[in-house]
Amino acid sequence: MSRHDRIAIEPLADAAAPATSREAATPAIETRSLTKIYDGGDPIRALDGVDLSIRPGEFVAIAGPSGSGKSTLLHMLGALDRPTGGEVLVEGTPLSSVHDLDRFRSRTVGFVFQTHNLIPTLTIRENVEVPMQEVERSARTRHERASSLLALVGLAGRADALPSQLSGGQRQRVAIARALANEPSVVLADEPTGNLDSRTTDEVLTLLTELNRSRGVTLIVVTHNAQVARTAGRVITLRDGRIQSDVIVDDPLKSDLYAWRASQLGQAVLAGAPVPDVLAPVVDALREAFRRI
Ligand code: ADP
Repeated sequence: MSRHDRIAIEPLADAAAPATSREAATPAIETRSLTKIYDGGDPIRALDGVDLSIRPGEFVAIAGPSGSGKSTLLHMLGALDRPTGGEVLVEGTPLSSVHDLDRFRSRTVGFVFQTHNLIPTLTIRENVEVPMQEVERSARTRHERASSLLALVGLAGRADALPSQLSGGQRQRVAIARALANEPSVVLADEPTGNLDSRTTDEVLTLLTELNRSRGVTLIVVTHNAQVARTAGRVITLRDGRIQSDVIVDDPLKSDLYAWRASQLGQAVLAGAPVPDVLAPVVDALREAFRRI
């Protein structure tokens, strides 16, 4: 098999799956014509009719330039904000039909943000217990579950430390443990490695990937980081509030090529923009690769 054969486009998994399994599985998350307009002097159409369907257990990266609507999409998926139009369904339940969104959210969705938002005056175990308070009455159960979550993220020995006594990577691991506090089926993460160096990014990524694989948690991660996007099984790229591309990643080279093709330079190359002679062979090779994906 040649290198180019390996980067040939794969059909999206939904299309590839047998009809019966496609019909049987309720998507973990679905959006239908999801639209968000921020009112101001000049209304901003941050999301413009987004349709997507994410299967249980998928690891999806949401990519795209700054201002393309990634965070807005994540907020809508996590019911942190209401859409202007369209619908979000979480495990088949339309969010517009949910009366107590706070309660629904705390049971179904976990959040990990770039700034981990840990409460500085609480120990890390207490931080992990905070989201449980709404759902779990027994203090003992909360305590035990927090301990086992901290063990899961490799911080068993630090349960009584304050956030300020931990490194950035450790704090982010606490944030991941906290996101899992109520055993959500979906974890939404906004730039979870944004503040971390590359070694710590690796660590956090490994942890997220393990959680996705071993616990079947559906993981949706907004990221600028190509490494994170490569680790995910699927990359959805937004531009101007719309889905520009949606690819299943089974080959890192392919995902790089998709990202490249979506870039301004890639678009210019495809449109036949003139290039200096010295770059012509490179551009020809890229055009050929673009044709094949
Ligand atoms: P991204 O996460 O891709 O950088 P955002 O979802 O943050 O994009 O933003 C999409 C667009 O919506 C941008 O033009 C941004 O300025 C605008 N926007 C985001 N949040 C608000 C808000 N609370 N009020 C007004 N405009 C907003």
